[in-house]
Amino acid sequence: MIIFWGTKSKKKKLGYVADYCVYCRGVQPYELSKVSAVGHIQGLSLGSGKTVGFLKRCESCSMVNAADATGYSHVFKKLPDDLHVLVVSSFPEIWDVYAERLELEDRLYNDDPISKEERAFLLREPLDAIAEEIEIRFKGEAQGDKPTGLGCVITLGVVGFLFFLGIVNEGSSIGSFLMQAAGVLGVVGFFSVFVLLLTSKQRFLKNTVYPLLGRTYSQINPSLEELEQHLQPFRNAGLALGKKIDTRKLLDAIHQARVELSQPG
Ligand SMILES: [Zn+2]
Repeated sequence: MIIFWGTKSKKKKLGYVADYCVYCRGVQPYELSKVSAVGHIQGLSLGSGKTVGFLKRCESCSMVNAADATGYSHVFKKLPDDLHVLVVSSFPEIWDVYAERLELEDRLYNDDPISKEERAFLLREPLDAIAEEIEIRFKGEAQGDKPTGLGCVITLGVVGFLFFLGIVNEGSSIGSFLMQAAGVLGVVGFFSVFVLLLTSKQRFLKNTVYPLLGRTYSQINPSLEELEQHLQPFRNAGLALGKKIDTRKLLDAIHQARVELSQPG
């Protein structure tokens, strides 16, 4: 028997806090988690491990980023219905800390004048925030997503079930047919999962990045030229964000978000 051991990262949910979200462009509830490096044998954790950092996930847009857990005065075990209650206890200084940023947001919302520099900042802010996430996704190994996981489960389930029926009917023509069917479906399933894994990066752009940035930029409503101009520094630096984002697709996502925004309800 081969024994696997080593360290793995383990995420533990701590509770809920309030913080500013770059993508939602406002104060939002966040789920706070602690990440630890724990030793394991055969995937089974050994103890609670050493804390290596904290992560926060926006409850509105689901984006995850690093958190400074020491900055919160209280962490709620259960998410309160009222955002004000969450803010007052977990991050009471938030309105002062982000006063300038939120005042700019108010002006944008009310169609009040904003300077050229402020507009450039609003266009750059979400790109700076998402650059690392896209870099990790595209430069690292292919990461399985929900469709990949589902493909795996369906393949294993169907093949396992047919294999089981084949064993039950062993010796008969039905049994041999079921075993052959399990083999064929196993090969088809394996290649399907492989293709799903290879296309997971493009799905991340299509299903997460474009809709997210589309909503973030919907109020700012940039032109194609402005998007090109702000993505150019990322291209010059050789970063995946600059190379992988298709500005026309991003512009389509912004227009789509603006249509949704203008619809009542
Ligand atoms: Zn958000």
